[in-house]
Amino acid sequence: MSSSHVTAAAEQPRAVVVITHPDDELFMSGTLGLLAQSDVSTTLICITRGESGTAPDCLADMNLELGRIREGELIQAVKVLGVQEVHVLGFPDVHPHRFVPDRDWDFDQLCDCIQTIIAHVRPTMVFSHGPHGGTGHPAHKEVYRATQCVLERTSNPAGHYSFAAMTPAPFYTEFFDDDCEFYVDVRRMAPLRALSFGYHQSQLQVGEFLNPPFPRTPRKILSALFGYCFWFTESGRARIPTITLAQFFRRYPFEGFVTRRTPQHGHATLRQILNEYCHTEKLHRGRPRQRVERERDLSVAGRL
Ligand SMILES: [Zn+2]
Repeated sequence: MSSSHVTAAAEQPRAVVVITHPDDELFMSGTLGLLAQSDVSTTLICITRGESGTAPDCLADMNLELGRIREGELIQAVKVLGVQEVHVLGFPDVHPHRFVPDRDWDFDQLCDCIQTIIAHVRPTMVFSHGPHGGTGHPAHKEVYRATQCVLERTSNPAGHYSFAAMTPAPFYTEFFDDDCEFYVDVRRMAPLRALSFGYHQSQLQVGEFLNPPFPRTPRKILSALFGYCFWFTESGRARIPTITLAQFFRRYPFEGFVTRRTPQHGHATLRQILNEYCHTEKLHRGRPRQRVERERDLSVAGRL
C-alpha cells in the first residue's frame, strides 16, 4: 500500500447527506444516529425549505411561512441525530404534480451549490435519494442526478450511496423499486428516530405517520369496539388504538442502501464503518416485490 493510501485510509470519515425536503432525512435517520456514534461527522444539505408541503390548519390565521417553520424543524431534528452542519439551499419547493425540473430549477446552479459544500467538507461518503426518488417525487430524482453529476465531474473520492432502497420491512413498500444491496439494522435507534421526527411538528398530522394500525385479531377488534363504546371511562379510553412515534419506528427496523459509487483511495465504506449493523441476507424472503412505475401514483410523493 502506498503512503498516500495509508494517509487517506486513516483520515476521519466524513459524510454529506443530500436531501430534497425537510423530513427526507427520515429515510436514514437511524443510520445517521449510528454514524454519529461511530464518530463520523455529518453535513446535511437540504435543497428546499419544503414550503409546498401540507400546512397544518393552525397556520391558516397566522402570518407564518411554512418554509421557515420546516427549516427550523429540520435543524432541530437532525441535531439530535448528531448531524453537525446543516445547509438549507432554498430552491423552490414545487408540488410533485407540477414540478418541471428544467423550468423550476437551474440544474447547473443546483450542481454548483452542492459542489461548493462538497469541496469544502471533502466527504468520504455521500448519501442521496436514488434514481427513482424513493417515493417517486420528481425533485428527489433531480437531486440524485445532480449529486451524481457533482461526484462525476470532481475528483472527490467519496463513495456514493442512495437511501430508501427496498428492505424486508420498509415504509411505503410499493413505492420502493430498487432492491437494497444491504440494509442497516437500526432497531436500537428507534427512540432516537422518534425523538428526531417529533421535531417535524408541522408534518406530524400529515399522511399516516400516527394513524393507529387496524386491529387484526377478533380479540383486538372487540377490545377497540369496547374502547369506542366506553370512551367516557378510563378503561374504555385505554383500549382505543393509538400509536406513538416510538412504536411507529419499531415497525420499520431497517434502512436499505444501494452503493452507486465505491469510495476510492482506501476510504472506508459504509458497510465497514457500521459493520455490526449491516446485513445482506434474508432480503428476498416472502413474496417477490413488484416493481412499480414511479409516475403512476405520486400520492405519497406529495407528502415526503
Ligand atoms: Zn422529499
